[in-house]
Amino acid sequence: MTTDRQSGVDLRELSTWRIGGSAASVYFPKDFAELSECVRRIREGGTEFFLVGLGSNLLFSTESIDLPLIVTRGMDACGRYDAINAARSVFSSVADAAGNAENLLYVEAGAPNTRVIQRCIELGLGDLTCLTGVPGSFGGAIAMNAESVVEVMYENLWLAEVNRQTGEMSVKPACDHTYKYRYCSVQESILGAVLLRLHPADSEETRRIVKERNEKRARKLPLNWPSAGCVFRNPPRDSAGALLDMAGMKEARRGGAMYSERHANFIVNVGDATSGDVVELMVLGKRTVWEKFGRSLQPEVKFVGRFNEADLEYLHTNLEENDGS
Ligand SMILES: Cc1cc2nc3c(=O)[nH]c(=O)nc-3n(C[C@H](O)[C@H](O)[C@H](O)COP(=O)(O)OP(=O)(O)OC[C@H]3O[C@@H](n4cnc5c(N)ncnc54)[C@H](O)[C@@H]3O)c2cc1C
Repeated sequence: MTTDRQSGVDLRELSTWRIGGSAASVYFPKDFAELSECVRRIREGGTEFFLVGLGSNLLFSTESIDLPLIVTRGMDACGRYDAINAARSVFSSVADAAGNAENLLYVEAGAPNTRVIQRCIELGLGDLTCLTGVPGSFGGAIAMNAESVVEVMYENLWLAEVNRQTGEMSVKPACDHTYKYRYCSVQESILGAVLLRLHPADSEETRRIVKERNEKRARKLPLNWPSAGCVFRNPPRDSAGALLDMAGMKEARRGGAMYSERHANFIVNVGDATSGDVVELMVLGKRTVWEKFGRSLQPEVKFVGRFNEADLEYLHTNLEENDGS
């Protein structure tokens, strides 16, 4: 296999939080053949693996990680369907049904959202401005249903996936998947690439929308510090950020991690934060919000590696369901 496999990888390089120890085994496939091959190889060894996009929703442990990682960032082609050879071989079975090739965009899982939006502007295509400012990969955005992108694109989206057990590839329409808040069932496999049917859009107008959205986000969010965005999901009919703010969490600090003064649902790395610092702050935030307001916050970020099990169990417990009172 020619897939780039590295050992002793500094996990801070794979995470927007810039937190983490080192990883024993990290694969960087560049295409579908390599992706399938590294899945097969890891599975033959009888181990699990964790899939990483651009690491903008992940907390890696500061303690080193033995679990193999597959990182999609090397699979990053993005362009018109008929201009990319890989697109025509992967999606040939659905291209006719998808319609006019001029409006079809092929995007591989590791392509950053910013580049996909830029490409849309260049090609005069619309529909994806909802992802403006979401710093992850396109595959990560679909897997996390970021900004409800799966709902937005539902009828106009086809996914090429690799089976996590066998490495086999298949192509499906999005309607074969379920989705909800911050989840799409493609997380159960590996999304390798998508085909999107997009509406033509005026490039100047799209550029204006993107600029406006970026400016708004820069005013509201602490983009000057490393983070993983919102650490907690919004509880039904409520805002995790508002609850954390009212609970007095803004600027609460442990080691190098701090609840942002600008947005209370962001924990920022203000200097050599460890995963333990972040978990401690999350436990504090969840406990305080529960004691003050009786709302149970659930993590939005995903934990990869070695953590205190009792802390993770507490963070993932729905205290409202367990409340006997
Ligand atoms: C400053 C900042 C602002 C943010 N703003 C937003 C926002 O406005 N809205 C929002 O929803 N999120 C936001 N986020 C969170 C994050 O950017 C999104 O969740 C993003 O979609 C994650 O993409 P990623 O490539 O970084 O995925 P990762 O963090 O690498 O992975 C996240 C999860 O997706 C899975 N995954 C990744 N790629 C694939 C794939 N190809 N196939 C199957 N599963 C996959 C991973 O296994 C993991 O479970 C923000 C983060 C930051 C740092």
